[in-house]
Amino acid sequence: MSNKHILIVEDEQKIASLIRDYLEKSNYRVTIIGRGDQAVAQIRKSSPDLILLDIMLPGMDGMAVCREVRKFSNIPIIMITAKVEEIDRLLGLEIGADDYICKPFSPREVVARVKAVLRRANTESVELGNINFISGSISLGNIEVDQVNHQAKANGKELDLTPSEFRLLQVLIAQPGRVFSRDELLAKVQGYDFEGYDRTIDSHIKNLRKKIALYLPDRDVIVTVYGLGYKSCL
Ligand code: CA
Repeated sequence: MSNKHILIVEDEQKIASLIRDYLEKSNYRVTIIGRGDQAVAQIRKSSPDLILLDIMLPGMDGMAVCREVRKFSNIPIIMITAKVEEIDRLLGLEIGADDYICKPFSPREVVARVKAVLRRANTESVELGNINFISGSISLGNIEVDQVNHQAKANGKELDLTPSEFRLLQVLIAQPGRVFSRDELLAKVQGYDFEGYDRTIDSHIKNLRKKIALYLPDRDVIVTVYGLGYKSCL
C-alpha cells in the first residue's frame, strides 16, 4: 500500500477535485489548498510526500511558493502551468521544481507523473555523497534500463550504448513525458564520460535513437519537443 500524501495547491476547485478523485483511486491520500499564501505553512505542518502546485494562485503565485518550500525541503514538486510556452521559461528559471504539467491535461497523465516523480525521489533518497546506489531497473514500454549493471534493453535485446547515451536514456525514461531542455540534459551527462564535452546533446540523441530503432523500428521512444528539448514517450 502506498498511501502517500499528495498536496494539491490549486484554486480551480473542479480541476483539483478531478485530480483528487484519480489520485485517491490509486490509493494516495489527498489534501487540497486553494490559496498560495496558505500553502507554505500547510507544507511545513503536514510535510506531504509530493506537491502538485498550480502557478496562478490567489495570495502568492506557485513559483514563489516553490522557492519558499525549497528553502526548507526537498519534497517533490510538480508545477502545473496554463501554457506550454511557460514551461520553457520555467526551465530557465531553475525554481527547483521536479516536473511540469501543462493544462489541459488528462487526470491519468497526472497520476502517471506523480508515480514517476515519487519513484525517482525514492531512488534518489538512497544516494550517498557522489556515489549512486540506485537500485533496480526502470522501464518504459519495451525499453528497460538496468541501473545496477548500466545496461539497457529494447524489446529484450541489449543495446550497445556509450556511457553518455546510457545516461540520457536513463534520465529520459525515469520521468516519462517530462520535457528536458538541452542544457539540463547536458548537465546530467557531463561527468559521465569525456565525449560529453565535444559532442552535442542532439548528436547523442540521434545515435541513441538509431540504436533503439534497430530493435524498435516502429516507435519513437524519444520525442523532440520543438523549441524546448526532448522527452520520452510511450
Ligand atoms: Ca489557478
